[in-house]
Amino acid sequence: MRDETPERGRKRRGGEEREGDNGARPDRGPGGRRPGGRKGRRPFDYGDLRLMVLALIAEAPRHGYELIKLIEQKFGGHYAPSPGAIYPTLTWLEDMGLATLEQQDGRRKLAQITEAGREFLQANAGNIEDIWTRKRRDYRRDAPRPILAAMDGLKEAIRSQLAQHDDRADLAAISARIEAAARQVAALPPLSRPDAGPEAAPESPPQEAAPIITRHRFETRRRLLTVQEAYRLTPHMIRIVLGGEELADFISLGADDHVKLFFPGTGEAPEMRDYTPRAYDTEARTLTLDFAVHQAGPATDWAIAARPGDSLQIGGPRGSAVVAPVFDWWLLIGDETALPAIGRRAEELGAGTRVITLAAVPGPEDEQHFQTQAALESHWVHRPEALATDPAPLLRPLRDLPLPEGRGFAWIAAEAGVARALRDHLLERGHPREEMKAAGYWISGDAAASDKSLD
Ligand SMILES: Cc1cc2nc3c(=O)[nH]c(=O)nc-3n(C[C@H](O)[C@H](O)[C@H](O)COP(=O)(O)OP(=O)(O)OC[C@H]3O[C@@H](n4cnc5c(N)ncnc54)[C@H](O)[C@@H]3O)c2cc1C
Repeated sequence: MRDETPERGRKRRGGEEREGDNGARPDRGPGGRRPGGRKGRRPFDYGDLRLMVLALIAEAPRHGYELIKLIEQKFGGHYAPSPGAIYPTLTWLEDMGLATLEQQDGRRKLAQITEAGREFLQANAGNIEDIWTRKRRDYRRDAPRPILAAMDGLKEAIRSQLAQHDDRADLAAISARIEAAARQVAALPPLSRPDAGPEAAPESPPQEAAPIITRHRFETRRRLLTVQEAYRLTPHMIRIVLGGEELADFISLGADDHVKLFFPGTGEAPEMRDYTPRAYDTEARTLTLDFAVHQAGPATDWAIAARPGDSLQIGGPRGSAVVAPVFDWWLLIGDETALPAIGRRAEELGAGTRVITLAAVPGPEDEQHFQTQAALESHWVHRPEALATDPAPLLRPLRDLPLPEGRGFAWIAAEAGVARALRDHLLERGHPREEMKAAGYWISGDAAASDKSLD
């Protein structure tokens, strides 16, 4: 089993559930990248995968498993997308009108390219050539075989458990066991390397015990929900509690997961925006979302007008990014749009875990109180909404903030330019890149745009 879930996302407009993909737009560079944009750490992202799949179904209609095999053959067995990557890709292509999926034999779906798909492919002809010829840098190449096999075994076991259990208590039990295993591995002394020469051993860097961020992918599912409660949590934050039987199997394993919200658009396509599941309860069948109030936009307009009984369609989460429980402290930084993820993370961290938050809001009455057993140190910055695109209000206090000893995970989300400046500052201070996650949750002057993973 291989899993090429993308590590990073990029700026998007429209399109469903785009974390980790670049939308493969014809006006972008390879795989949809903007010219001069940064390169992903993984060899292929979802934008690339969409092009590969389109190219293969342009040759002939194909099933998902055939596509996996064909891509694997194309890359000499070095790379094969997982079903968790292929099927959401097919759904995305169908949603975008680039492919049709025809149900066959009960579950299997035959994918066929549409006219729009052929045009898209033609517009990206150079990109697809680049993808086929690009030499795959296998990020797992250097891992010893027994470790790969063990990792695959663990992934299979987790997937099979997730397929059988949808109850929150079950999920908590499963994640507790995984976390315990991660702690045990992390606590191992550096592994001895029998094949290393006598001089090599002391110089060898310690091996990474476990991936810092593990991605989980879920079947995409749309749910039609009803507003149960709608109220101002603070002057600039609207809390909406949604309910519906369809939440019975809702899963969100990561505090910074997102769901896609669908609003009526001016044309045929709906407007889509990303929001964090602030809280959910599968027994009570409720999902809580917090909407930062800003000047304009369909999501904000909808939240302002929302009343009990209103409907809202949501999609996802398509995946969760779970950070390994190996950190001594957490630093969570962001603006109003990051507060739902910051609050959820602070509340989900274990008792006594050190967590420092630095959040920007318009005024003292917009500060929030998080119910947590973690050792929480909150810093609030007050600045008007008009300064939400200025990094200075958050950068200044961050510069003065002493970071604790030990290993810390830094998480940042704000307007893209602000998030980038904050990330750069932490990098300059020597914080390891792989021990932080920075996202542009919105992009100034650009509706429905985000940069989910800044490199
Ligand atoms: C993974 C992820 C999770 C997110 N979670 C949340 C969440 O839980 N709660 C939340 O409130 N937001 C969240 N956001 C941000 C939210 O998706 C954006 O703010 C979104 O653009 C709002 O949609 P809109 O329809 O109101 O405005 P849009 O139509 O998208 O934008 C209209 C204009 O407003 C600007 N704009 C967008 N957002 C803001 C803002 N916050 N302040 C000032 N100007 C803005 C845009 O640049 C554009 O010019 C999240 C984003 C991501 C990527």
